[in-house]
Amino acid sequence: ASGYSLLRDPQHNKGLAFTEKERDAHYLRGILPPISITQELQEKKFMHNLRQYEVPLQRYVSMMDLQERNQRLFYKLLMDNVEELLPVVYTPTVGEACQKYGCIFRRPQGLYISLKEKGKILEVLKNWPQRNIQVIVVTDGERILGLGDLGCQGMGIPVGKLSLYTALGGIRPSTCLPITIDVGTNNQQLLKDEFYIGLRQKRATGQEYSELLHEFMGAVKQNYGEKVLIQFEDFANHNAFELLAKYGTSHLVFNDDIQGTASVVLSGVVAALKLVGGSLAEHTFLFLGAGEAGTGIAELIALEMSKQTKAPLEETRKRIFLVDSKGLIVSSRKESLQHFKKPWAHEHEPASNLLDAVKAIKPTILIGSSGVGKTFTKEVIEALASFNEKPVIFALSNPTSQSECTAEEAYTWTNGRAIFASGSPFDPVKCNGKVYVPGQSNNAYIFPGFGLGVVMSGAIRVHDDMLLAASEALAQQVTQENLDSGLIYPSFKTIRKISAQIAANVAEKAYELGLASHLPRPANLVKHAESCMYSPVYRTYR
Ligand code: NAP
Ligand code: MN
Repeated sequence: ASGYSLLRDPQHNKGLAFTEKERDAHYLRGILPPISITQELQEKKFMHNLRQYEVPLQRYVSMMDLQERNQRLFYKLLMDNVEELLPVVYTPTVGEACQKYGCIFRRPQGLYISLKEKGKILEVLKNWPQRNIQVIVVTDGERILGLGDLGCQGMGIPVGKLSLYTALGGIRPSTCLPITIDVGTNNQQLLKDEFYIGLRQKRATGQEYSELLHEFMGAVKQNYGEKVLIQFEDFANHNAFELLAKYGTSHLVFNDDIQGTASVVLSGVVAALKLVGGSLAEHTFLFLGAGEAGTGIAELIALEMSKQTKAPLEETRKRIFLVDSKGLIVSSRKESLQHFKKPWAHEHEPASNLLDAVKAIKPTILIGSSGVGKTFTKEVIEALASFNEKPVIFALSNPTSQSECTAEEAYTWTNGRAIFASGSPFDPVKCNGKVYVPGQSNNAYIFPGFGLGVVMSGAIRVHDDMLLAASEALAQQVTQENLDSGLIYPSFKTIRKISAQIAANVAEKAYELGLASHLPRPANLVKHAESCMYSPVYRTYR
């Protein structure tokens, strides 16, 4: 290949970091200015430039450009500056990027499979340049973060998630495949938007929808075999639960919104117990939002309670209450409830809103998974704080605009007594002269390590016990120092180490359950996980 095309190949390009020898060997003389610099200096320069941009979306575009230009530098940057760059390539900025995806669109990333490709999906997969794929993240764009239906522009999510698979979990970037399935959108604003990149039609539903998905799932298995992890992301709940149940027995599928979120929140709860005391089963949980995240978390908490106490699931579920858009979920509503809510319809007086539910249930742990911002009002938080010495509050909805409350609100309305974590990051808060550092309860802690564990063990199915294993590994990474400052999650700075622990725990469970196909089982799974991880450091070309 010519030096000129080498510079345009993001997988191999090193820009000014090509050495003298490499320039001679690969026809790069004169195509580059005479100076040669290190990857560290390139990194310093890029961060300097990035910090000049005041507008978050400009930072996002700049990062995407880098990913398209020099992959290794992109991942090195992301790994070395994870706390600073996570909010750029992930929540909250990725949300705005999706809303404006058509407008900022440059080079396409990932695979687009629309209704036009019906009957040809296998061909589409074969158009992708890489043959060896380990992880697919797929969305149909119907419930992007808490922002609703963004149609084809949801592509930002699979792209962002997979860049975290690599940066945080060490999955090789060439084995990651982002996919958006475009069946139309019901977002009127996008349908009218002249820059919209998707099909300009209402969403296909029913048979038309399920046929396209069925063809897709079949084509993936035919093309990549059984051991590719398919992560469903940001599907609306009327499809998400069904897809997971339907393909859970035939494919290696994982729904991050239901399962990954559950695992990360359970971990945060377990860590919080060290601060507030009591066992899991001694606590009472109230959720605002009874969709994928809410019921997924509730079910995993109930499962863990049941393992700890040996009580049946039907009993442990009674410690957990959920509120949806129509109020508290109770038995009198059972007939009209969607199937995933039915297990939570307990015998209880109805309550039409969250405040009444808080007063009636007196939860010790309050979890927001509604996708609606500002719903943990002052009254709600004050009521919670009136009967809890240390109220535990999770405001999980993303992006920041949809957070049920801000970190500042949680701390000031409880006089600094809250144990608080949120889906999108908040800056530290000063309250009563003390500084409180809020934790981020985001599935980004779990899915990269979880995926690595699945991939390295060659697991062929995902089992709930693997989610519990991931959750346990994460909780164990919370240090006393973290807890002392009120944090129920470890710092993202050490995420690669955390991911290795999660991967090892998940793989161990996969071997134990007989679901692993990479045999023999490596003796030291943590070391094995670390050795499997992708390094973004430049390689020398001969
Ligand atoms: P979903 O399946 O659509 O569920 C949303 C739930 O919230 C539904 O039960 C809905 O009620 C309820 N709801 C909506 N508006 C409400 C209101 N005003 N009052 C009370 N309940 C209301 O969505 P999801 O997948 O669970 O996601 C929800 C949010 O969680 C999103 O913002 C997403 O970004 C966030 N999330 C965060 C993480 C993380 O890692 N932190 C992970 C996944 C998801 P009905 O059922 O009555 O419609
Ligand atoms: Mn999601």
